[in-house]
Amino acid sequence: MTNTLLFTNSKRSRSDDTGSGDAKKLASAIHRHDPASALASARHEFGEHGGVNMSIEASATFTVMEPETMRRMFTGELGPDGDYFIYSRHFNPTVLNLSRLMAALEGTEAAYCTASGMSAISAVLLQLCSNGGHIVASRALYGGTHALLRHFLPRACNITTSFVDVDDLKMVEEAIVEGKTKVLYFESVSNPTLMVANIPELSRLAHQKGVTVVVDNTFAPMVLSPVRLGADVVVHSISKFISGGADIIAGAVCGPASLVNSMMDLHQGTLMLLGPTMNPKVAFELSERIPHLGLRMKEHCHRALVFATRLKNLGFKVIYPGLEDHPHNELLKSIYNKEYGFGGLLCIDMETEERANWLMHHLQNHGQFGFMAVSLGYYETLMSCSGSSTSSEMDPEEKALAGISPGLVRMSVGYIGTLEQKWSQLEKALIRLQEHGLSNKN
Ligand SMILES: *Cc1c(COP(=O)(O)O)cnc(C)c1O
Repeated sequence: MTNTLLFTNSKRSRSDDTGSGDAKKLASAIHRHDPASALASARHEFGEHGGVNMSIEASATFTVMEPETMRRMFTGELGPDGDYFIYSRHFNPTVLNLSRLMAALEGTEAAYCTASGMSAISAVLLQLCSNGGHIVASRALYGGTHALLRHFLPRACNITTSFVDVDDLKMVEEAIVEGKTKVLYFESVSNPTLMVANIPELSRLAHQKGVTVVVDNTFAPMVLSPVRLGADVVVHSISKFISGGADIIAGAVCGPASLVNSMMDLHQGTLMLLGPTMNPKVAFELSERIPHLGLRMKEHCHRALVFATRLKNLGFKVIYPGLEDHPHNELLKSIYNKEYGFGGLLCIDMETEERANWLMHHLQNHGQFGFMAVSLGYYETLMSCSGSSTSSEMDPEEKALAGISPGLVRMSVGYIGTLEQKWSQLEKALIRLQEHGLSNKN
């Protein structure tokens, strides 16, 4: 036991060195400018033996030296801020370390990581809304989120959602029922249509009516900082760009400390009681990837812009927020963290599913350009026909309202190989498409 105490003490003084009050104040000032500098200023946790990387706290439970300490931990008097941990479905040190990085990335007071993006979304909505509560949400949402709001929450707990076009501020305003509406929910960049939300205006409008703004920033980590733009809470599917490896399912809720703590409450907390817990080994793995997230995003964005520009010049129908003909190009330029770019996804509208499938088949099986797969943020390019895959939960009318054409091919542009090598593979497939008389270009 003496050894345990020694280790604990040495770890405490080390983290105290790096997480002192002044350093924290400085970090929060820097948050406002750039996610990369905020990440570099976040507390760095060393390994128990002085390793440059933290140790993995692979423990479900934690010892105390005195029974009194246990009592004080359960009353909330001693907590993770002071390095007191109870049980890993509650706070775990390694998961907390990744969560601090997520808070730095998004410029929020606190964050906590979860087993998936969907669990982060459902936990935060269930924490903010009670039985009978109301949500106003964008029509253009990830299919799983749409199903949660449209089908699951009304049945399971009578939480209902009005779906709106978030581009239409009047429609948003009219959908908010003062006193009843708890949350305005939308994606910073929508899946799969790549519409950019006017985060400052939507937040201002919601706050006038006492509504909490929750933004899914999965498509634009580093590129957009929704809380800095006025939102209250950011949710992420870490499974995508932040992981970058297409090997892990994970999520996070980033927001005020009061919200994160309420989600951990022993009597009322959705994270504590529903238990979508992240494994500390996974948290360690992910925290080693966050330092190069900015570099990866820059390359994803750079290549997406080059491909989108060239595709457009060839006469194809391209949706990319970095192109001047995109309805939100000006908006994005006014709110983004410009050193990263316009996002790593683009869409080509092939109009029919047949043409979309022909193109994806050739790009994967003849051109080695990328893989037919859902998800995004991988080093290889991933392609899917959204209408028949990730948005298939929507009925045809809902798809039409969300702007999802049956031939829409969503591409998460990878950074493997050289840009010109990848472009020539893409160009060759497009030339073949024309030779087969399948091109729909103008
Ligand atoms: C993938 C995704 C989710 C769900 O995340 P999981 O980690 O798969 O649970 C939520 N929102 C968006 C925008 C996504 O792309």
